[in-house]
Amino acid sequence: MGKQQHKRRQMRRIRTEKRKRWIESRRWIDEHHLGPRSRSGSGEVQNLIRIKRYRHEAWHALFDLPGNQCRTIDEIIALLVRLRDAKRRQKRKR
Ligand SMILES: [Zn+2]
Repeated sequence: MGKQQHKRRQMRRIRTEKRKRWIESRRWIDEHHLGPRSRSGSGEVQNLIRIKRYRHEAWHALFDLPGNQCRTIDEIIALLVRLRDAKRRQKRKR
């Protein structure tokens, strides 16, 4: 097998693996704590939402603080409101 062909097969194998993991992650439903467990969020139903695993992973990738410190839903809302307001102010200046 030539070097190029070997490389192509390797790339295809990696893509297949990634795709399998993506499909697998969409099958599962996770329970997410709106008030993080790490900050004494309860396991009661009022504190939990059920979301697909791939969305759950994306949520934490997007909103967690460095050191895997989770934000509460209220902190995330406040963050998004600050971001929106900052963008509005920026637009007015132009
Ligand atoms: Zn979570």
